[in-house]
Amino acid sequence: MKIHEYQAKELFRKYNVAVPEGSVAFTADEARAVAEKLGEYPVVVKAQIHAGGRGKGGGVKVAMNASDFDTYANDILGMTLVTKQTGPEGRLVKKLLIEQGLNIAKELYLSILPDRATAQMIIMASEAGGMDIEEVAEKTPEKIIKVYVDPLLGLQAYHLREAAFGLNIPKEAMKSFTVLLKNLYRMSTEYDCSMVEINPLVLTAENSVIALDAKVDFDDNALYRHPDVKEYRDLDEEDPTEVEASQHALNYIHLGEGGNVGNMVNGAGLAMATMDCIKFAGGNPINFLDVGGGASAEQIENGFRILQSDPNVKAILINIFGGILRCDRLANGVVQAARKVGMKVPVIIRMEGTNLEEGREILKTSGLELINAADLKDAAQKLKEVIQ
Ligand code: ADP
Ligand code: MG
Repeated sequence: MKIHEYQAKELFRKYNVAVPEGSVAFTADEARAVAEKLGEYPVVVKAQIHAGGRGKGGGVKVAMNASDFDTYANDILGMTLVTKQTGPEGRLVKKLLIEQGLNIAKELYLSILPDRATAQMIIMASEAGGMDIEEVAEKTPEKIIKVYVDPLLGLQAYHLREAAFGLNIPKEAMKSFTVLLKNLYRMSTEYDCSMVEINPLVLTAENSVIALDAKVDFDDNALYRHPDVKEYRDLDEEDPTEVEASQHALNYIHLGEGGNVGNMVNGAGLAMATMDCIKFAGGNPINFLDVGGGASAEQIENGFRILQSDPNVKAILINIFGGILRCDRLANGVVQAARKVGMKVPVIIRMEGTNLEEGREILKTSGLELINAADLKDAAQKLKEVIQ
């Protein structure tokens, strides 16, 4: 689960990870009040959305006086911010973080994340921090150093030194840096973070090390241990169909641009194979939807409705292996759903397994124009015909 920068900085404060002074604002008036409380310029106006690259998209502005500040706050609040990470449709900005402007001497990069390959934590750091870290990673990967930490042994003094030397932290700022990294590591493990990223981590002219940006992602499977983090969830930042699907306990992922075939499958592996099959037929999967082994007729109905609600869907392929979810139950769910919400696009059904004959009978006698496929190859062929 992702959270906003201002929320991540709240956690940072709890752990004594240095951040600039500031707070969140939901209206221009609130923003003004925060700026007045900060008392002196420069003051920074930062759009709060769950996507990076805000600076380049015009979502971060440094104001040198009150009148610029008002202009920036009004411009950014309510704007549709388009960044590399939002996609072309952008994201509506509903909140701002108003922060004290810092006297930046150097912008660094720092992140902590678990590494599956080595089963260790990695601290990634680079002197080339700032807005273009993706480019650094691509073109000059040697500028990013990696310090591996065994999670059972925990962070040791030599890890801190290795990171500090890698970043060329000046002697005067050493204490500030090691305190920050130590606390950040503790936060990352105590909160089961799948990523903590500070870009930029700044070295100020006064030799303090401060987190200027903050990106934190949590392991969803561990969220039950962190009710305070759950409170941070912002449904405005999530895909509305994914939110709805999660309310019906459906494993749904919207795949975005260019998709034209909706699909409903049981089992993640079969879902992947089905998406390949859609590609093979010349289509483009618009989603991943795993209804799970024991889906109810109601879940099938909701899944079907969600698929049909997407205006880009030209056809739907239902591919179910009847094990725990028997074919007759699936057929009933689909028929019930199609009667309730109507059929806006051709629907191809391929089923196999327990109670197959009963299932086929239900589809056949339903009076609905459901296209029955004998097997996966046949399904691909029929899909090809309807989307051409
Ligand atoms: P994003 O990564 O989404 O572009 P950042 O928070 O990293 O957003 O901000 C982008 C840039 O804006 C930073 O690299 C920094 O140069 C500048 N900036 C952000 N916050 C401040 C601040 N409090 N003081 C001075 N400059 C800032
Ligand atoms: Mg940043």
